Amino acid sequence: MNNQLKGFTDAHAHLAMLFDIDREAGQEARLPDDLALCGGAFLLDIGTQPDDLGPRIAQFGRFPNVRFAGGVWPHKEAVAAPQESARLLEAALARAAPSGLLAAVGECGYDRRENPTAPEGETTLLELQLSLAGRYKLPIVIHSREAPRATIETLARFPDVRAVIHCFSYGVEEAKKFLELGCHISFAGNLTYKNAHNLREAIQIVPAGRLLLETDSPFLSPVPFRGKTCRPPMIAETYKTAAALRNTGVEELKQTIARNAEALFLQ
Ligand SMILES: [Zn+2]
Repeated sequence: MNNQLKGFTDAHAHLAMLFDIDREAGQEARLPDDLALCGGAFLLDIGTQPDDLGPRIAQFGRFPNVRFAGGVWPHKEAVAAPQESARLLEAALARAAPSGLLAAVGECGYDRRENPTAPEGETTLLELQLSLAGRYKLPIVIHSREAPRATIETLARFPDVRAVIHCFSYGVEEAKKFLELGCHISFAGNLTYKNAHNLREAIQIVPAGRLLLETDSPFLSPVPFRGKTCRPPMIAETYKTAAALRNTGVEELKQTIARNAEALFLQ
């Protein structure tokens, strides 16, 4: 990994979604160029459906610095049938494990816009995936939108599972609670938005050893790319903003994030 300390680690990207956008634009070749531009750094490719893990490994497993997470996002359909969703995911994890490329469970969690009534199945689906993470000894990537309390309560019941709060969207108080639970906190391109005061404050209290950065590509392009498809190399802007807020240098931050990702996902 040491040579990868030069690059921009990306703890959360959806390469298959980006590839589909490129293909529609007739630009299939862009993705390898993007990954090369990131300096060969570690990138975690994230799943949202139980059946997307195998195809993503088949599609992107040839890139030496890409690892994979398999999980079920809290889509209404998945939340309506949590046992079935988790059963399908478990089969996909079992098939992927021998590849050596499986690095995490996720993304999974709570989304109050998708599920405004907080259905019980949403918690059940997350609990089942936390159990799978425990069984496979993998970290878990948590999506949490407008549901900090439910997220904290559920994670507290699984103290042995290492969790990443991806695309952190809350403030200092919530960050403290997640840190108390032992979570890593990952910031995305919205950190660069001028009105993101809560994020800009929160990133300053995260200990260096618990910090991650991500693109959430193809979503959430950082300034000055807002409104465009988010691509992995754009993460350099998020690193610049994060380094300034934390009073450190970009080079040092690259090494910190690479070390954190390596310790969490490549053990
Ligand atoms: Zn995502």
